[in-house]
Amino acid sequence: MYMETSKNQSRGNFHSRRPNYKHYPPRNPKRGAENNDSVPKVKIMSPSQPIAMATPTTSSAIAPKNNEVLKIMALGGFEEVGRNMLLLEYQNQIIIVDIGLRFPDETMPGIDFIVPNIEYLTNNPEKKILGAFITHGHYDHLGAIPYLIDKLGYPVIYTAPLTRAIIARRQEDFPKEKKLDIRLVNPDSDENINLGPFVIQPFHVNHNIPDAFGLFVKTPVGSLILTGDFKFDLQPIGDKPADLNHIVRLADGGVDMLLIDSTNAEVPGYSMSENVIMDNLEVLFANAKGRIILATFSSLISRLQEAIIICEKLGRKVAIEGYSMKFNVEVSEKLGYLKSKKGTIIPLAEALHLPSQEVAILCTGAQGEDNATLMKVANREHKLLHIEKGDTVIFSSSIVPGNELAVQNLKDTLLKQGATVFHYKMLDIHASGHAQQEDLKLMMSLTHPKYLLPIHGHYSMRRSNANLAMDIGIPEENIAIPSNGQIVELTKAGMTLTEKFVPANYVMIDGLGVGDVGEVVLRDRNTISQDGIFVVIAVLGKNGALVSEPEIVSRGFVYMKESQDLLKEAKEKTIQIIKTSLGNVKDPRVNATYIRNNIREGLGTFLFRKTQRRPMVLPIVVES
Ligand SMILES: [Zn+2]
Repeated sequence: MYMETSKNQSRGNFHSRRPNYKHYPPRNPKRGAENNDSVPKVKIMSPSQPIAMATPTTSSAIAPKNNEVLKIMALGGFEEVGRNMLLLEYQNQIIIVDIGLRFPDETMPGIDFIVPNIEYLTNNPEKKILGAFITHGHYDHLGAIPYLIDKLGYPVIYTAPLTRAIIARRQEDFPKEKKLDIRLVNPDSDENINLGPFVIQPFHVNHNIPDAFGLFVKTPVGSLILTGDFKFDLQPIGDKPADLNHIVRLADGGVDMLLIDSTNAEVPGYSMSENVIMDNLEVLFANAKGRIILATFSSLISRLQEAIIICEKLGRKVAIEGYSMKFNVEVSEKLGYLKSKKGTIIPLAEALHLPSQEVAILCTGAQGEDNATLMKVANREHKLLHIEKGDTVIFSSSIVPGNELAVQNLKDTLLKQGATVFHYKMLDIHASGHAQQEDLKLMMSLTHPKYLLPIHGHYSMRRSNANLAMDIGIPEENIAIPSNGQIVELTKAGMTLTEKFVPANYVMIDGLGVGDVGEVVLRDRNTISQDGIFVVIAVLGKNGALVSEPEIVSRGFVYMKESQDLLKEAKEKTIQIIKTSLGNVKDPRVNATYIRNNIREGLGTFLFRKTQRRPMVLPIVVES
C-alpha cells in the first residue's frame, strides 16, 4: 500500500521542494514548553556554529500545510549511551521506538536505573500512542517498559520473538502489572504494519543479540529508515546476515530521512565479524590447560553461543553463572536462538567436580560490577567458585566508559590469585554490536537518504556520524544533531531542527519507585558521600536568644576528637550568626527559617574556608 503513495512522493519530486519557513532569531531553548505548533522556531546556522543542522531556505515551491508535519524527538538516547526512546508524531498520533533504561554512573549513588521522562505523552491527553516498536532485546532499548508501560496506557508492543520473550519473562518480576499486548513482527517479510498515518515495515539487521531489526516508516510527508542498533556481519554466529536486499528494496521508493546508529561512529574500519571472534576464542580455549572462565555481557547471546560451540568441539562442559545471564540463556534456548547439545550445559556444582580442563564457566561481571559473578569470585565471596592457579579468565567484552578502574582492579585481583587473564585489548575476543565507520557509510549509501539524523550516543559520536555522511556527499545543511527532547520536523518542504523542546530529563529509579528521587536528593547524596554531613542544633527561647550552647554532630567530615578547635570555632560562629540574624529580624517573633538559612550559608562558607570541603550543613533550630 505504501508503495503507491511512494510514487507520488518520488525522490525527484521531493528534491525540487523548498522549505518556506521564516527565519527567526535563535532563542534560548525552552525545555518542556512545546505547545506552540503554529510557527516553527528555526535555529539559524552561522559559519562558526559547530552544530550541523538543517537550515531552511526562504523560497518555496510548495507550502506545506501547518499540520502536515512529522515531529521526531528523542526522550532519551541522545547525549548519552542508553535510555533509548524515540517518538514519531504526526497530527498528535505517535509511534514509539524503544523504551530503554540506562545504568547510573558513579555520580548517582543509590540509583538503580534512569528512564526516559514521558511527561510529554502523559500530560497531553490529545496525544495518541498507536504502538511501541522494540527493536531488540537489550535493556537500553526495552528496560524501562516495566516502569513506564502503565503510565503510557499499555500501548501494543510490536517486536520480534526473542525480544518478546525477554520482555515477557522480565515482566514476571512485576506481578502487579497488567498483561502486555505484544505482537510479533516478521522482519524477513515485506509485510506492512498500518498504524494511523504510519505504514511500517521492519527489516533484519545484525547486532550482538539475535532478532534485531530496523524500521522503514512511510508517513504522509516522507519516508524514514531507522536502523536501530545495527552492524553488518556476513558471517554471524547464531543469526542470519543483515538483509541488504530488503534494505535496498525498501529504499527504492526514496528515503527522505535516515536515522542511524552512532554508537561506533568514531571507530574506523569495518565491524569485525563474530566469526573472527570465534576463531580467536577457540585458540585461547584450546591452549588453556585448566578451567576457563569467560565473562561477558549477559545479553551477548551470540558470544555465549560461540563459547558453547567451541566447548562442544573441545570436550568441555559449560556452566552458566549470574542471574541475568541464566535468564537470557533460558529464554534464548527455549526459542531456539541458542543451541547446545544435551548435557553440554550443566550446573556449576556438577562442573566443579570434573577435571579442570573439561570445564568452562560463562559468567557476568566483565565490567567489574560489584554484585556480578566475577567480582564475587575474585573477592572470594562466591559460594562455590574460587580462583585456582591455572585458571584462564577471559574478558570477552569492551569496557563501558566509567568502568575502567573497576575492571583494572578486578583483573589485578584475579592475577594475584594465580589466574591467567586475557582481555580485548590483547587480541580480538570481542566485537561490538554496532556499525563502525565503513558499515555506517555502507548503510548511508544503500539507503541514499536526503536528510540524516544520527541517533544513539554522545554528541561526539553523532557528530562523527554526521561527518561520515558529509564525506559521502550528504550536505551539512541536510543533517541534524538534536539534543534529547529537541523536536526535528519533517514536512514535504524539508527538515527543520526546531528550537522546541519536550521534557527529556532523567527520571531516576530507586528501588521500585519511579521518579521519587529527584536531582535535589541526588545532589544531597553526592554531597554527603564526598564531604560528609555537619549538623548544628540550636535551641532558642521565646525571646529568640539561645537557651544553651549549640550542639554539633558531624559524620564523614572531620574526625571530631582531633578537631576540637574547629568545632569550638564553628560553635562560636553559629552563636554569632544567630545574634546577627536576630538583629536583622524586625518581627520580634523568632523566624526559624531565616536563622536556619543564615546558619547554613554562614557556616558552610566558614567550614569551606577552614577545610576546603563542603559538607552538607544541616541546621536544626528548635523553638522552646
Ligand atoms: Zn543493543
